[in-house]
Amino acid sequence: MEQPGIDPSHRIHLTPFTTLMYDLHTHSTNSDGAYTPTELIRQAGLVGITTLALTDHDSTAGVAEARQAATAIGLHLIPAVEISTTWHDKSVHIVGLGIDPACPVLQQGLHGLQNLRAERAQRMDRQLADYGVPGAMTAVQAMAGTGMVTRTHFARYLVRCGLAASVRDVFDRYLTPGKPGYVATEWASLEAAVHWINTAGGVAVLAHPQRYRLTGTWMRRLLDQFRQVGGRGIEVISGTGSQADTQSSADYAKRYDLLASVGSDFHSPDAVWPKLGRLPPLPEYLTPVWQAWETADSGLGTGVS
Ligand code: AMP
Ligand code: MN
Ligand code: MN
Ligand code: MN
Repeated sequence: MEQPGIDPSHRIHLTPFTTLMYDLHTHSTNSDGAYTPTELIRQAGLVGITTLALTDHDSTAGVAEARQAATAIGLHLIPAVEISTTWHDKSVHIVGLGIDPACPVLQQGLHGLQNLRAERAQRMDRQLADYGVPGAMTAVQAMAGTGMVTRTHFARYLVRCGLAASVRDVFDRYLTPGKPGYVATEWASLEAAVHWINTAGGVAVLAHPQRYRLTGTWMRRLLDQFRQVGGRGIEVISGTGSQADTQSSADYAKRYDLLASVGSDFHSPDAVWPKLGRLPPLPEYLTPVWQAWETADSGLGTGVS
């Protein structure tokens, strides 16, 4: 991943003339990302990102390290989290941007999800063992360390066992509903997740809306409810979405008066995953989500550090 010609120790100097580049959806080794928080920040600096949100699944444990690394290179870190919810039997992800990680209500909520993750991992391990694939738990725990155990860790183990050629392949064959390693989980309710985020002073953003494969009617139902319970933003630019997805999300942002967010959902430098940063600009008629924390004078934000 080294880029020729760029000094790795390069410091970012934010001046009024610096082009701001936002990436408000990324993962570290604290969940299913490949980089440690420190390495993620370093890579973000190298590609020219000036404001980054670390959005690990159901945990803010990486934020302190990311904050320290960000301060060292003058990058603006938005403390954040990606919360797993279940809505009408679907897994829906809500990103909380600019949360205070010290908020007890938020941490209590996340703690419940962390327990659910641990229980689900045990059940996945047993199901896979019954299917003839033993040893998953030991392997995923070694990979995840103190971070969240996710299906991605199981996927990596199954690829390592030679059961499929790629992580994507493994999901389709083993880890999605109806498949041998899948365990249905009742995550947080939409209302609870948004409540925790709002209580922690953050902005609740519907992550990667195109991934839920909802019909227009169901998407409107989801957005009606999301608005009703205090949700304020939607990812319009997502690293995993197409141009048509962006247009559709932009239409929803306008129609529901939601703040527009931009995030790669970067996990690893592996080519199948979206790259860090390098996202197209938001349509100009939308209100960017960073207006929620940036002040008119500084242009760089003071509300969140
Ligand atoms: P979990 O929250 O533990 O159920 O894991 C969900 C994570 O698995 C997502 O955040 C993605 O990083 C990853 N994931 C989900 N579906 C796929 C897929 N089809 N291919 C590759 N990764 C996936
Ligand atoms: Mn993930
Ligand atoms: Mn997600
Ligand atoms: Mn994500």
